Amino acid sequence: MTDLFKNAGFFLDGEKLELFEKYYEILSFYNEKFNLTAITEKSEVYLKHFVDSLTGAKFINGDFLDVGSGGGFPAVPIKILKPELKATLLEATGKKCEFLRELIKELGLKNMEVICGRAEELAHDKFYREKFEFCTARAVAALPALCEYCLPFVKKGGKFVAYKGDAEKEISDAENAVKILGGRLEKTEKIDLSGNLRTIIVISKENKTPEEYPRANAKIRKKPL
Ligand code: SAM
Repeated sequence: MTDLFKNAGFFLDGEKLELFEKYYEILSFYNEKFNLTAITEKSEVYLKHFVDSLTGAKFINGDFLDVGSGGGFPAVPIKILKPELKATLLEATGKKCEFLRELIKELGLKNMEVICGRAEELAHDKFYREKFEFCTARAVAALPALCEYCLPFVKKGGKFVAYKGDAEKEISDAENAVKILGGRLEKTEKIDLSGNLRTIIVISKENKTPEEYPRANAKIRKKPL
């Protein structure tokens, strides 16, 4: 499995490789009970979850919030790679939050917190709003809705890093949302992961998000910005 990381440019020490091995075991053990991932074959989990999660890590250089973490992606692989960063995981489903807390405990990861709740509600809480240097999200919603979930959490000067596949259309659909929410599309990076396209989208937070955002979820979904 080490080669899968190396081929993607990640040279991990023995301790980190051991943590990924343990992560794979814990994920496999709890998968049925918590319905975490359809990908179960070991090399696929390594490539499509672990290595994939690391593709955006170079853009995360400070405390970060991961919205809709599910089985822990991309937050837990990023935290294993960069243990010095404080990571906060936000997840709406109670059972998945239970799994994430167990995972963090079993991996012995420090400076990591799980919040069980919905992004569009928590983003109005003063304790979390515009408090994070970085925000990440993978496979949670289409980009316009995702920006409304995520950008309100990011401090001015911070960045939102979105993991997408072929994202050309989503990027143009999200232009208005990015602007209204105080962001600016900074860059996109395309990565070929053994034939699968991953696009990392970096949106910088230039202005405060107006108080009325995020709206209620039904509105976000029915009338994207
Ligand atoms: N990010 C993980 C990954 O890449 O494997 C999980 C992806 S899963 C398809 C989407 C996750 O986002 C689910 O666990 C779901 O409960 C969570 N989610 C969806 N909308 C959310 C919201 N508004 N606030 C918090 N979590 C949300």
